[in-house]
Amino acid sequence: MEKSTVRTTKHNELIEITDIVNSVIRKAGVKSGICHIFVPHTTCGLTINENADPSVKADIIAKLEQLVPVNDSYSHFEGNSDAHIKSSIFGHSLIVFVENGSLCLGTWQGIFLCEFDGPRTRQVWFKILSQ
Ligand code: ZN
Repeated sequence: MEKSTVRTTKHNELIEITDIVNSVIRKAGVKSGICHIFVPHTTCGLTINENADPSVKADIIAKLEQLVPVNDSYSHFEGNSDAHIKSSIFGHSLIVFVENGSLCLGTWQGIFLCEFDGPRTRQVWFKILSQ
């Protein structure tokens, strides 16, 4: 298993990690296979979405804040239930195909770490399987 660290700077933030993932794949030397990406946290997640127009990230975060407000009638003592809920909506892992030593993504797609309780230092774990 490979590991990387991502430092987030905002409370809610989508940080593109596509270059980090491709770098891990290059180091692993896998030309064709599967890349499994995982975050071992309960208040962040992973997603694939557009990396061309930054307003897409802003719209996702703004809509999430409407759907899952920070303050509501939550029971969790820690006061960050919104972050736990957002984390479960997005999920903790992604699987992406690898061909020619890099990720197979659509033209406008990037891989994002989704921070919902930052700023924090986050771990991203990888398992890259050769076909
Ligand atoms: Zn909590």
